Amino acid sequence: MITRTLRNIADMCGGEVFSAEDMNVKIAGVVTDSRKITSDCLFVPLAGDNFDGHHYGAAALAAGAAATLWQKDKGTAPEGGGVILVEDTLSALQKLAAAYLSEIAPQVVAVTGSNGKTTTKDMITALLEGQFKVHKTQGNFNNHIGLPLTVLSMHEDVEIAVLEMGMSSRGEIALLASLAAPDVAVITNVGESHLLQLGSRKEIARAKLEIAEGLKPGGLLIYNGDEPLLAEVMAEASFHAPEGMHTLRFGISTDNDDYPTGMMTHSGGMTFTSSLHKERAFTLPLPGRHNVVNALAALAVARHFGVTDDHVEDGLKRLKLTGMRIEVMLTSSGLTLLNDAYNASPTSMKAAIDVLQSMKCTGSRIAVLGDMLELGPDEVRFHQKIGTYLDPEETDLVFAYGPLSAHIAETARDKFGAERVFSFTDKAELTSVLIGKCSPDDVVLFKASRGMRLEEVLHSLNKHF
Ligand code: ATP
Ligand code: MG
Repeated sequence: MITRTLRNIADMCGGEVFSAEDMNVKIAGVVTDSRKITSDCLFVPLAGDNFDGHHYGAAALAAGAAATLWQKDKGTAPEGGGVILVEDTLSALQKLAAAYLSEIAPQVVAVTGSNGKTTTKDMITALLEGQFKVHKTQGNFNNHIGLPLTVLSMHEDVEIAVLEMGMSSRGEIALLASLAAPDVAVITNVGESHLLQLGSRKEIARAKLEIAEGLKPGGLLIYNGDEPLLAEVMAEASFHAPEGMHTLRFGISTDNDDYPTGMMTHSGGMTFTSSLHKERAFTLPLPGRHNVVNALAALAVARHFGVTDDHVEDGLKRLKLTGMRIEVMLTSSGLTLLNDAYNASPTSMKAAIDVLQSMKCTGSRIAVLGDMLELGPDEVRFHQKIGTYLDPEETDLVFAYGPLSAHIAETARDKFGAERVFSFTDKAELTSVLIGKCSPDDVVLFKASRGMRLEEVLHSLNKHF
């Protein structure tokens, strides 16, 4: 984590130390949540619509913070520790992170995309870790506050920073990329998440490509070549690639620079070879073709940094993903639960259905699907398309949960017949019917947007079986 004197911090974030005698006070780490103060940290009070961290400045100092940033228009600064006055605490936090990153100067890998950012970030880290000291975004700290905090939590000797960059509107990735100045940028894909805010998939592609515009000169852009919109946007006059940018396209299509060959699904996950290194087969301890595609992006980053195939193989074995991304769980009586209840968009829901439908199973394959939120005016059509996407030969029963998912049920019934499709708006009712239909030989997929809290149903099933 960052350790600096208040004099340094003020220079880095464009502030002034309030009291000259505090110039040499040293801080260790930066905290924005007053409930999580660590000893000698710098507290950064942020002002939101419903809260203002400045109310907690005095408490933060009393709890052990060495100093606090203080926005000049927020009244008298608290006593009991150092104070650095700034115009705006959020932009001071961002400036501080950018300055710290350029001082410690690791190589920076930035990952964006509609789906698979966290998965790909975790994969990249696993592949690089054997040969480099790597720091990655923890959990989902991928926005204008999370990214600076990630940077400021890094040790000075980090060689490669792997940073997840999330967004919900234009300009957000541009800000994060200008802060982090990546050497390598990865765009996993362009889906439909945030269609409501952005209006069209092309506009989503433009927003993702802001990451490329923020690359250092001579940087490498690794992007999903199966998505034609990315190439289309790069051809637009308004797209400004940095000087000397290199590109590498990955994906399923054989038109890409790197694509998987000989993909095989088995109980341990997926085995595949990359078209660039056909002599070596890699095993990924995860289900799903989409994860092979994520792995190709990670492989491209690893190769860029000269990681050997032996290290890649070891790294894939060590892979630890952040929770609730297609976790395969076995209940005590042997029922298989696929927990993908972390979030959902049409692209990731189809990917999860592919996983369910490719699982070997002696009982039934059951899809429990909840609403996908924030999809904009076409939300009904997106749900109807999921119902059509489900294959009645490969999935046995469909459980839909929520008012939008009723449209999944509606189109699924055409192919499955009414007796294999159930639709609920009440979670307790869903749980009880589902328990009645399940047996220990089955595989059950749970997939919905975060707001649906579908994991509650999964936990009930886990308790029961
Ligand atoms: P968030 O926007 O919430 O940070 P994310 O982009 O970090 O999401 P992950 O957390 O890696 O994405 O995965 C989210 C969901 O997307 C999971 O359900 C996963 O199964 C699915 N997914 C992961 N990779 C892909 C992909 N390449 N294509 C489609 N779906 C994917
Ligand atoms: Mg994420």
